[in-house]
Order: sequence, then C-alpha cells, then structure tokens
Amino acid sequence: MVSHFLPFHHFPSFSAFPFLFFDFHSNTNFLSGAGSGGVKAATTACKLGAKVAVADYVVPSPAGTSWGLGGTCINVGCIPKKLFHFASQLGESRDDMEGVGWGVDRKTPHDWPKMVEGVQKYIRQLRWNAKLVLAQIGVKYYNMLAKFVDSHTIELLDPKKNKKETVTAKNILIAVGGRPTYLPNIPKELTISSDDIFYLKQNPGKTLVVGASYIALECAGFLTGMGNDVTVMVRSVLLRSFDQACAKKVGSYMELRGTKFIHGSIPSNLEKLENGRKKVSWTDKDGIERSEEYDNVLVAIGRTANTAYLNLESTGVQINPNNLKVIANEADQTNVPHIYALVIVLILDPNLLLLLLWLENFFLKDFSPIPRSS
Ligand SMILES: Cc1cc2nc3c(=O)[nH]c(=O)nc-3n(C[C@H](O)[C@H](O)[C@H](O)COP(=O)(O)OP(=O)(O)OC[C@H]3O[C@@H](n4cnc5c(N)ncnc54)[C@H](O)[C@@H]3O)c2cc1C
Repeated sequence: MVSHFLPFHHFPSFSAFPFLFFDFHSNTNFLSGAGSGGVKAATTACKLGAKVAVADYVVPSPAGTSWGLGGTCINVGCIPKKLFHFASQLGESRDDMEGVGWGVDRKTPHDWPKMVEGVQKYIRQLRWNAKLVLAQIGVKYYNMLAKFVDSHTIELLDPKKNKKETVTAKNILIAVGGRPTYLPNIPKELTISSDDIFYLKQNPGKTLVVGASYIALECAGFLTGMGNDVTVMVRSVLLRSFDQACAKKVGSYMELRGTKFIHGSIPSNLEKLENGRKKVSWTDKDGIERSEEYDNVLVAIGRTANTAYLNLESTGVQINPNNLKVIANEADQTNVPHIYALVIVLILDPNLLLLLLWLENFFLKDFSPIPRSS
C-alpha cells in the first residue's frame, strides 16, 4: 500500500515532531531548544552528549479520536492531509485520463475506508520510525502528560493507568503545539475537526465546513474532490492573513470545482436529529434566518495552544492571555532563562538551532528569515 503513496516519500519524515522535551540534570553541558521537531532535535541533542527525555501524550478529541507519537504533522496534519489531497486529485484526474486515452471505470465509487486504512498504515510506519529513532539514540520517551511543579520539576501522568512520576530537568523546551478551537455555542461532541477527519471510518457525506483557514479550505477541497457535497461557512474573509488576491483566486477555483460557500455567517445553533444528521441554523448576511441538514459539521476556525494543563504559573513563564501561547524571544527563550518554547515550528535545519543553543552562542538572534510551518 505504501508504494501507492510514493510521491510523498520525499517529505522530511521528522520535519515537525512536537514534544515537550527535557534535558535532565547531567554532567554534560546543557541542551535547550529544538528546531523543526522534537525527534530530530532530541536525537541531535543526544549526539551532542546531552541527556534528553521527551513527554508526549494525546488527549482524545471531543469526538473521541486519538493517536500516538509524532504530534500534529504526522498524525492529523501535513502528512494525512497531503495523502487525502493525493487521493482526491487522483479521482479528479480521471477527466484528464479519458482525454488522453485511458479507460476509466466511473461505476466503482471511491472507497473511503480503504483510503483511511492505507493512510493509517503509512502513518503507523512514521510513528514506529520515530519511536525507533528515539530508542536507538537513547532519548527517554514518556507517553505521559507533563505539567510543571516548579521551573525545574515536572509531574508526568499516565491518565490510563493513573500513574504519576516526577522528574527534574536543567533546561526545558515546551513544544506542546495546539488543538482545534471549537465553536463556543455549539456542543463540541456534535462536530468534528481536523483531529477526526483522517480517522473517520466512513465517508463524512454532506459536510459543512465552518471556517476559512487553510485547514478549512484544504479539507473542503479534498472532500469536494472525492465527490462530497461540501459547503464552507465563512465569517469574514478567506485565508485572513494570506495575500488576499491569491485567497480570492483560491475561493473562485474551489467554487468552480463544486465547493459551495456561505459568506458572512456563523452557526447559531446545531441540533442532532433522530436520523443522526446535524441541523445547522445561522443568520445569513442579509439578516435572514436559515437552516440546513448535514451529515457532518467540520469546525476549522483556528487552533488553541496546549498550555492550559502545563501549570505554567508555577514557573513564572509568561503567556499571551489572548491566545494562551507562551511568550518567547527570537531565540525561543521565555522570560525564565532555562525554559524555551517552540512557538512556531521551524521547518528547516533544527541542527543549526540546537548547535547555536548548545554553544550558548546566540549569534543568530532573528529566526524570521528561516522558513517555518504555519
Ligand atoms: C490539518 C493540518 C494540516 C497542516 N498542514 C501543514 C502543512 O502542509 N505544512 C506545514 O508546514 N504545517 C502544516 N500544519 C501545521 C503543522 O502540523 C504544525 O505546525 C506542527 O505540527 C506543529 O508542531 P508543534 O511541535 O508546534 O506541535 P504539535 O505537532 O501539535 O505537537 C505537540 C505534541 O505535544 C503533545 N502535548 C501537548 N500537551 C502536552 C503535555 N502537557 N504533556 C505531554 N504532551 C503534550 C500533543 O499531544 C502533541 O503530540 C498542518 C496542521 C494541520 C492541523
């Protein structure tokens, strides 16, 4: 099955591995910071002689989806997304295939469970590789939830076994990422998010995508390409922080391919019907009350930083109260000098950053020229 996804093998396998990441008290020099992802960073740090441990634990989504090691990118982000796009584009390319002489079977519908199975198989391999790399290099991996007791002490919890452990660290990197933000007035468990879509056992059917972020539009795009009836509900503009001329082109192209848009609206109510469908109500941009039934409602209105559980108050580390993100300087250092925070994942050369931090030689203070993921 994996060979079917060959075009994706060139992806940097460990490009965005996110972990809470500790350098334990040791006789070696200190390590802190990470570049594009914890696995690469952790392994590099180990090569530099540091004693390193990572803690990574996934709290299930409100719809109950959970996954393993590797963070957003591998499990519910870049990788499955690109594979779903790949599947969708293959379906769409049937039109072109016919034009150049290939016979096309249009009677056999797309097999969603088979696609999910294939994508999951690929993701499992990436997770396994990550685990193996960590083990081989000697990084200690805790599949546990981490929170601070004080600025050098971390409590680790295995919620399934209710087992706790306390560890201390000389330098600490917080790289806890974020999770989808849900609509405040709508019960979370009645909606799905990008945390769920790649794990659904069945095709989501007629879908309302709420939001106009790149995640919203990408999900809407691949679902439309797979033949689904998809509507995107946009509060204000598409792709807010992107070039608006490009954003408009993306919107027009999506409409051309069959995605529908409702502009200037947000859901005011969502009701689960006896037949399992979701009845969504909203006020349209002309002030008229409207409603429609969907099989699924996918919410993609942004992401919230995973800092609430960390008990950062016990460390004095400052966070931005508006988005809960840890405040860090250009060198990813918080106001507590031995605690670093990966606010945005670097997608190039984590080795460079680690080396810089390792040497305490911060001659590169400004990381803004380095390409980053969102
Ligand atoms: C659908 C989608 C598509 C995307 N596509 C792209 C793309 O094409 N290109 C791109 O560059 N980026 C893309 N991204 C963004 C990219 O995936 C993220 O920017 C990146 O994965 C973030 O990495 P991170 O290290 O900040 O956090 P995450 O990957 O979110 O990892 C944080 C990890 O820490 C764990 N954790 C949280 N709190 C604790 C705790 N207290 N204790 C222990 N563990 C904890 C979490 O469970 C998680 O495993 C996409 C994201 C999504 C959702």
